[in-house]
Amino acid sequence: MRIGIFGGTFDPIHVGHLAAAVNAQYGAKLDKVLMVVANIPWQKEGMRKVYPAKERLALVEAAVQDVSGLEASDLEIKRGGKSYTIDTVTQIKSLYPNDELFLIIGADVAAELDSWEMVEDIAKLVILIIVNRPGSTRPQNLREIWNYLEVEVPALDISSTDLRARAIDGRPLDFLIPYRAIRYIREHRMYRSEE
Ligand code: ATP
Ligand code: MG
Repeated sequence: MRIGIFGGTFDPIHVGHLAAAVNAQYGAKLDKVLMVVANIPWQKEGMRKVYPAKERLALVEAAVQDVSGLEASDLEIKRGGKSYTIDTVTQIKSLYPNDELFLIIGADVAAELDSWEMVEDIAKLVILIIVNRPGSTRPQNLREIWNYLEVEVPALDISSTDLRARAIDGRPLDFLIPYRAIRYIREHRMYRSEE
């Protein structure tokens, strides 16, 4: 199997994530894509309040419910603590020792790879899939440790940061977040204040 790993804080998940995931799946002929919800995103720690991982997972589950090939993964939540990609990739490799792993990232994240823990080890375990993202150009000189491919996805200028601000102001979230996830946000009164 060819397995995609798409990690994120998903605070909240939005159609930019979903369009990237399904187009990466199609473009790289992946059998499935695991949407891995970060437990504690160490890069974002201390910068702002991140919603509880269980709630972010529930949003991802709601969003992928009807999408074949996309699966919500609670691997990092079950593991607990800070979420490091090396641990996740190692764990998925031990679950699927004979399968090919692909790590899907947006261009903004591609520019930050060198700040990751144990990148050389990650690079031995996965093929990167870099998707374009409005506002970010992918680094011109990606280190030679990486095997990578680029997949073109529709340019959707959508971010969780903007969606949180919209939710606080009461601006519409419709069509930017799948409706089942919007329903969960409303029912659980999420994203109503900035903390
Ligand atoms: P935040 O604004 O809180 O950082 P985000 O929208 O960037 O949220 P993340 O959970 O940080 O979402 O991103 C997870 C992954 O999805 C990253 O690899 C990121 O590059 C990618 N991604 C997010 N939004 C888009 C988009 N609109 N198009 C393509 N890739 C995206
Ligand atoms: Mg981000």
